[in-house]
Amino acid sequence: MNPSYIIITDNSPFYPENYKWGDQKSDIGVIAFSTHILNIVKTYTAAVIDGQIYIDQSISNKLNSEDKLIPVHYLESLNGLEENFILDRKIIIGKKVKLSVDAEARHKISAAHSMTHFMSLALNKAANKYWNKNYDTDSLGNFNLDKASIFKSSISELQSIDIYRFGKSIKKKGFDKAAFLQDIDSVNEEINLTLKNWLSVGSEIQVEYISKNIEDLRLWKSTVENHPVVIPCGGTHIKNTEEIKDVKVEINSGESDEYIEIITHCKLR
Ligand SMILES: [Zn+2]
Repeated sequence: MNPSYIIITDNSPFYPENYKWGDQKSDIGVIAFSTHILNIVKTYTAAVIDGQIYIDQSISNKLNSEDKLIPVHYLESLNGLEENFILDRKIIIGKKVKLSVDAEARHKISAAHSMTHFMSLALNKAANKYWNKNYDTDSLGNFNLDKASIFKSSISELQSIDIYRFGKSIKKKGFDKAAFLQDIDSVNEEINLTLKNWLSVGSEIQVEYISKNIEDLRLWKSTVENHPVVIPCGGTHIKNTEEIKDVKVEINSGESDEYIEIITHCKLR
């Protein structure tokens, strides 16, 4: 296996993959210094504690408030500079660098992330009638099936794959899984129709920050059918649904009858 490298900078515009809930694919891009340009192929979250660096899964679940999380840039190759680095690490350490995020890739990922939020609201709406007990509701007043059953989410360029789990606990919460799964094709159709309607009117999207710290809560805000909608989210997003040309949701069966997979595809204008 080839060695790989990480570069840490004082500041970075790169979106790192979240180490706890790694739903959104991280930024890629380039780092430029003196006459060199190197490819950044992934960005992880890291914590620096007492001079030690902990990356991604090695970050402890119990961080202190003063432990800062930072993005670390991951490189697969130094483009032939390996020798230079071995001879003189100061070739980059302490130097000014220019970090550039691949804006097109980021835009496509942001589009997929925003659309998966709308999909979750459309899913909750279509699934509302399958609840026979009260449960938490979303911003549109529908029971929040997404919150109750989301298992894993993988958001990449123009596509989000969301796995939902319908185990014993969701049944206890009052959700009629059997009836829902029996009607899954019509649920799928309804979600697509709902999203089409929602997209026919442009809606602004905002991300509200408490601070720019990676670990602080952020809120995704938009409007659906004249209702403000809010979802807690640490990801990146498009600014308006007008940027989306088309969205299509495809529901597949999962690895067992406890799971379903929802793929949200979107196209940009
Ligand atoms: Zn999100």
